[in-house]
Amino acid sequence: MDLVLSPELLDLQHKVRGFIAEEVIPLEVEVEMAEGRLDPAVRKRLYARVKALGLNAVSLPERVGGRGFSWVAQAVVNEEIGKATNALGWVLWDPAIVLAFATPDQVERYVRPACAGERFDCYAVTEEGAGSDASKMTTTAVREGDSWRLNGVKWHVTSGDLADFALVQAATDPAIGDGNTLFLVDLNLPGVEVIDHPRYMHHLIAGHPRYRFSDVCVPHDHVLGEVGSGLEISKEWFRHERVMIAARCCGAAERLIDAASEFAQTRVQFGQPIGEYQSIQNMLADSLTELWGARLMTFAAAQAADEAKTAEDIKIVHTRASMAKLYASEMAHRVADRAVQIFGGRGYMRENVAERFFRELRVERIWEGTSEIQRIIIAYSLYRRGSEALLY
Ligand SMILES: Cc1cc2nc3c(=O)[nH]c(=O)nc-3n(C[C@H](O)[C@H](O)[C@H](O)COP(=O)(O)OP(=O)(O)OC[C@H]3O[C@@H](n4cnc5c(N)ncnc54)[C@H](O)[C@@H]3O)c2cc1C
Repeated sequence: MDLVLSPELLDLQHKVRGFIAEEVIPLEVEVEMAEGRLDPAVRKRLYARVKALGLNAVSLPERVGGRGFSWVAQAVVNEEIGKATNALGWVLWDPAIVLAFATPDQVERYVRPACAGERFDCYAVTEEGAGSDASKMTTTAVREGDSWRLNGVKWHVTSGDLADFALVQAATDPAIGDGNTLFLVDLNLPGVEVIDHPRYMHHLIAGHPRYRFSDVCVPHDHVLGEVGSGLEISKEWFRHERVMIAARCCGAAERLIDAASEFAQTRVQFGQPIGEYQSIQNMLADSLTELWGARLMTFAAAQAADEAKTAEDIKIVHTRASMAKLYASEMAHRVADRAVQIFGGRGYMRENVAERFFRELRVERIWEGTSEIQRIIIAYSLYRRGSEALLY
């Protein structure tokens, strides 16, 4: 395993790092104070910059209009975008990797425009009664000739306020496949309605509205993948997102450690910098050590995904993605907590990066599968395969 980034990947890291530091991070405090609102003109300008830099749609293959980056290269990008608070790094828009399952016609209507920034997607799985158990959908899709009738309510639809189409997971005939199907649903269709825009702990540049689908008529050629493969395809999305969440958590932790270290070396109390006190040093040393561990896991999981050939390889990647997400998300939360402590009262102010990350990183232990669910995945995979298959 190659633990050193190649010169090409270092160039990529340098490019994303420069963009985030110079053009994105300076917007954080204004966006935070505006509860996550990003001026539409600024958003448009940033999207144009991202496209000019070749940093949009990095996950999808070139044949559908994406940049076709390896998972390791995507991890490099996500680590850097994770350094910005308020999800400002999401201006590097990246349509869901599972859009690679689209038919040629769907590619032209949805995927290429989404890669180009002309259309935006969101992913709607979660419901009031179906969270961790994403197999228990009450949203239904019933076949009626050449179309499907879609009914149900979806919660926490991230970017549902920006998107113009959704990937909606719905229950279909339980006798076919996994009993779930994914649909590409235009959000301007009759019967599609935003119920509300709930407020959350964080202030991100994208919201998480609740959507209701009432007798929405979705043409059959809007099925993504096969009928009855919805859960399987969503698992692929989870796998990819878990590795990228881990990478973003590493980026956030790195920024927090650097900020807290700089503060510790300059903030004087009792006649000397607080960084001279061992209890402060312990927090910084533990943070850096845990970050190093999380980075190694994250990049190893990404590399395993790039090298996976068989179905069993993919199952091992799935487990490693869970381990990386579990460890990196919990590590980042510990690091944010220590950073708040090191900054003292300043760390409790919304203008401080540690305060913002302390709130924002909390969700990393919940979405794309909670920490408890990651542990279940890891434990069952251990029982099935043994530790050697998962470690080497
Ligand atoms: C800000 C935000 C954005 C989101 N964005 C999206 C999105 O874009 N699309 C989407 O579809 N979903 C989205 N989600 C939903 C997210 O994926 C779910 O919240 C998550 O999967 C957990 O489901 P739940 O909230 O229903 O909790 P529940 O499943 O009800 O779990 C509640 C608690 O019980 C625990 N638990 C559940 N089952 C077990 C078990 N078997 N063993 C041990 N403990 C268990 C959980 O770990 C958790 O602690 C988002 C959520 C948030 C908060």
